[in-house]
Order: sequence, then C-alpha cells, then structure tokens
Amino acid sequence: MTLPRFTHIMPSSLNEALDLLHEKGETGRIKAGGSDFVVAMKHKTALPEFVLNMAGLKELDFIRPEPGGGLVIGVLTTLSAIVGSEQVRKQYPILSQAAGKVATVQIRNVATIGGNVCLDTRCWYYNQSAQWRKAVALCYKLGGDRCHVIKNSDKCNAVFLADTVPALMALDAQLKVVRKGAEKIISMEKFYNESGHPPNLLRPDELVSEIHIPRGPEKAFTFFYKDAPRDVIDFALVNLAMRIDFQNHDGVCKSARIAVGGVTSFPVFSEKGVQVLKGEKITGALIDKATELVLKEIAPISPIWVSPGQRRQTVGVFVKRGLTAALAQNLNK
Ligand SMILES: Cc1cc2nc3c(=O)[nH]c(=O)nc-3n(C[C@H](O)[C@H](O)[C@H](O)COP(=O)(O)OP(=O)(O)OC[C@H]3O[C@@H](n4cnc5c(N)ncnc54)[C@H](O)[C@@H]3O)c2cc1C
Ligand code: SF4
Repeated sequence: MTLPRFTHIMPSSLNEALDLLHEKGETGRIKAGGSDFVVAMKHKTALPEFVLNMAGLKELDFIRPEPGGGLVIGVLTTLSAIVGSEQVRKQYPILSQAAGKVATVQIRNVATIGGNVCLDTRCWYYNQSAQWRKAVALCYKLGGDRCHVIKNSDKCNAVFLADTVPALMALDAQLKVVRKGAEKIISMEKFYNESGHPPNLLRPDELVSEIHIPRGPEKAFTFFYKDAPRDVIDFALVNLAMRIDFQNHDGVCKSARIAVGGVTSFPVFSEKGVQVLKGEKITGALIDKATELVLKEIAPISPIWVSPGQRRQTVGVFVKRGLTAALAQNLNK
C-alpha cells in the first residue's frame, strides 16, 4: 500500500505548529507517532494535503510533577516512556498498565499518549485498504449514504478503542487544548463526540498539548481491565478503568469513577452506576446494583469481532471484579 501525495511540514515549536494549523485549516492534519495515522493514510481514509509532523516538538515530550501533587504529561510522550516511568507507575498504576496494553513494544516506542487520546474510531469496513473497500458502497464516514455495520442505521457505528482513555478518565484527567492565541482546559468527559465521527470535539486548528492528572484521593484503589482476542497486538473488545475512594477502612465508598471503552463510538463515563455507591457501605447487593446501573448506561455496538451481548457481559464482569477487589483491599488495609 502506498501513501497518497501530501506536503510534509515539520514545525520546530508549538507556536509554529499552531500558526500552521491556523493557516492550513481543514487541509492540514497532525501526525504524532504516526502508528495509526500513517496506516489511515495508506488506507486512504486520511487524505490531508498537509501533514504536520509533531516529531520535532520536544517541548511536548515530558512527564513532570504538578504543584499540589499531580502530574502533567506532554502529549508527545511515548507510551513506552509512560510504561517506563517510575513516577507514573507509583502514582497512577492503571495508566501504566493501560499504556502497556497498547499493541506491542515496537509500536509503543513511537506511539504517543496524545495520539492515543485522539485516536479515530474503528470498524471492520473502514479499517481496510481502499482496494478492499472498493467492492462495497461508501459509508457515512467516507461521504456515502449507509453504514455497513448496522444496516438501516442513520449514523456511523464505529467504536472508540483507545486503551489509555478509560484510565485517564477514571483518574479525572484534564486536557489542555490549544490553538493560535487561545488555550483551554477541558475534562476528558467533555472531549469526545457522541457520534464518533469525528471522534472528538477538536476544531481543525486545535491540538491537545498536555494531559493534567490530579493527585487523587488518599484512600482510593484503582483497576484497569482489557479484554482482547489476543494478549498483544489486539485492540480491545472492552477496556474499563475505575477508581474507588473510601471514607475509612470500613467499606464505605466516598466516591467512585468508572469509565468504559470499546462499547460504543465514545468512551462512556458512568454517572448513575457510581452515584449509587456514594456514601454507602459496599456489599454484594450494592455491587450487583451498581453493575446493573453501569450496564444501563452503555449500549454496546459491535463493529468488530464479538457480539454486543458479549461486550455487555464483559463490562458486567469487570465492574463486579473491580468493586469486589476494591472492597477487599479497603477492608484489609
Ligand atoms: C498493529 C496495531 C495495533 C494497535 N493496537 C492498539 C491497542 O491495542 N490499543 C490502542 O489504544 N491503540 C492501538 N493501536 C493504535 C495506535 O498505535 C495507538 O492508539 C497510538 O497511541 C496512537 O498514537 P500515535 O502517536 O501513533 O498517533 P498518530 O497515529 O500519529 O495519530 C492518531 C490520531 O490522533 C491525532 N493526533 C495525534 N496527536 C494529537 C494531538 N496532540 N492533538 C490532536 N490530535 C492529535 C492524529 O491527527 C490522528 O488522527 C494499534 C495500532 C497498530 C498499527
Ligand atoms: S461504522 Fe458504518 S459508517 Fe462508521 S465507518 Fe464503519 S461502515 Fe462506515
């Protein structure tokens, strides 16, 4: 598969990159590690006139402590650097675990956390070569009039699968979004697009520059789970992360955060499922209730490999497993 023709530009500073994004508008696209984007270009699903290669922006490759005890991670930090960071492993083990579950060592050596957060949604039709897709009519995401995954659907049903995202959401991370002359901090819950097409709410002249993770509560336990057909080089069927905070060592939950990926076109952040836990002593019955409520908040679609039913079942198992482990760890402390 060959690359389409494009103009390659390598800005040497963030300001220069923002000027270029402003100037090129919809004709320009960012390449970070390129592990997904270059494949998309070869598949001819990404056909930008200008490719802004971020590789020269060393100012966005860092992990540093934030005043107040949190961490800031520059978006060009590779997933390998995150896995290898003792600071991340100690403070946010689920981020380390999630980053370590992405693809293979070789891919993680180039793949960035920013590229993972901004990953496109996927399905069995879209993520194929142009030659393969030629046999069937164009779908919504490629400017056509149908979805091959769910016939008669009036929308795209590709899924969002990035592994680090549920972990970052469970940790209450925020994103710094910048464009020429402006910047804002937004929570991960407000970053994604429900339709999944495009996957997030960035404007064409914006990029994500930093990820801010707050310190997090003292008596919290965190868990990350990924189910995939194979242990390596496989996108998730489901990925789920949670942080459960306790008042004391008595099983009473102070607050909880649960985020689920791989089930629909955007990462789902549970609201009702965690609400029922707040201020309550966790018991088997409460775990069942919380699981039931999380399952009501997701409507799995299945554009790859397994049925929506299996995805739903897996989410239920992960929620129960995490809550049960959190309770046991809290009582044993
Ligand atoms: C064989 C294979 C297996 C894989 N397995 C997994 C897996 O198990 N789990 C998983 O999560 N991913 C997987 N991936 C996808 C991909 O490798 C990772 O998601 C990776 O983290 C993407 O990062 P990147 O730096 O390479 O991004 P790129 O490919 O450079 O970019 C991805 C997208 O993000 C945009 N982008 C990048 N950085 C920014 C930014 N700072 N601001 C705004 N937009 C930006 C790009 O324009 C592009 O649309 C796999 C890929 C391959 C080829
Ligand atoms: S889910 Fe449907 S519309 Fe979306 S990319 Fe796949 S085939 Fe196209």
